[in-house]
Amino acid sequence: MGRRTAIPFCDLRRQARSLGREIQQAVRRVCTSGAFILGPEVEAFEREFAAYCGSREAVGVASGTEALQIALLACGIQRGDEVMTVANAGVPTVAAIVLAGAVPAFVDIAADTYTMDASRVAAQMTSRTKAILPVHLYGQCAEMQPLLDLAKRRQIHIVEDACQAHGAMDHGRHAGTLGTVGCFSFYPTKNLGAYGDGGMIVTNDATLAARARRLRNYGARGKEAAELCGLNSRLDELHAAMLRVKSPHLDRWNERRRTLAAHYERRLTNPLVKKPRERPDAMHVYHLYVIACDQRDALRAFLLDRGIQTLVHYPLPAYAHPAYADSSAAARCPRTEAAARQVLSLPLYPELRDDEVREICRAVNAFSP
Ligand SMILES: *Cc1c(COP(=O)(O)O)cnc(C)c1O
Repeated sequence: MGRRTAIPFCDLRRQARSLGREIQQAVRRVCTSGAFILGPEVEAFEREFAAYCGSREAVGVASGTEALQIALLACGIQRGDEVMTVANAGVPTVAAIVLAGAVPAFVDIAADTYTMDASRVAAQMTSRTKAILPVHLYGQCAEMQPLLDLAKRRQIHIVEDACQAHGAMDHGRHAGTLGTVGCFSFYPTKNLGAYGDGGMIVTNDATLAARARRLRNYGARGKEAAELCGLNSRLDELHAAMLRVKSPHLDRWNERRRTLAAHYERRLTNPLVKKPRERPDAMHVYHLYVIACDQRDALRAFLLDRGIQTLVHYPLPAYAHPAYADSSAAARCPRTEAAARQVLSLPLYPELRDDEVREICRAVNAFSP
């Protein structure tokens, strides 16, 4: 189109500028220390992140995807086991299940929150179901209590995908600490993002954490004999040091995200647009601000024409990707199908300015097909 993008979907440079000096000091500290892998920065960040979440253990890994894969393996998931999950959260979640040797079983979502519909899970479980993997999508926890009750009754694990939910809560407890194990990503645009890839596993189960520590390091602890077949999936000292600079700001950044979401909630008045719903008993941290509209693609083009960049999370259900094709899933997941056609993510990140939100809302409100 050749038009200038006046409001990009996200601009990470704004935050990088505000933290520049401290980040450079952290980088220098690691570079002169001579310790680059599994050293004091990773250990300290694991302690700090566990304390923040309120979990006993935290294990730094190389990405959110591998956090999920390692968490599943540490839970004892075996080849052919079934893991129940949702199909509207992008492909990494499903890739992790398949890479762990398991089979994803797709469950539909609740229409108003886009998270796993707990009422569908029980009906779809089979004797091969060994774990439930809910995704705390867009920064809001899936409704956990019914899933926790079900998992307890069936004696299976809950692995939480909290990759979009750093600091989010369900009934006052942090995302990632409700199930057996929780997984985080530090991909740069996440609510807590590194300057590259990174991830974290949190759990209260010391045995599971010890297995995860082996699995991230070729299956071995230090120079001991390898007891498990593992990966190389470690969080780097450099990333841990930089994340330690950023993590004290997480709550303030999340608060700013919530303030921006409240601006959107107040100012968006176009009746064609459905706004996100906050669960009353959860704290949403707005990794994304996602609206829904039947004329989504036309709205998206209309906004782009006015210099406003938006994204779609996600345009294709996981089971519609050739790699994870599941021909029976679409009929089972009508709400997932509808969401893929309707959802649209508006710009929202802590450094987005109030006047930019006003401009976005004016543009959305001016849309008619
Ligand atoms: C980002 C993300 C992942 C994957 O994290 P990476 O660090 O990119 O591997 C997994 N699940 C969800 C829901 C995510 O948003």
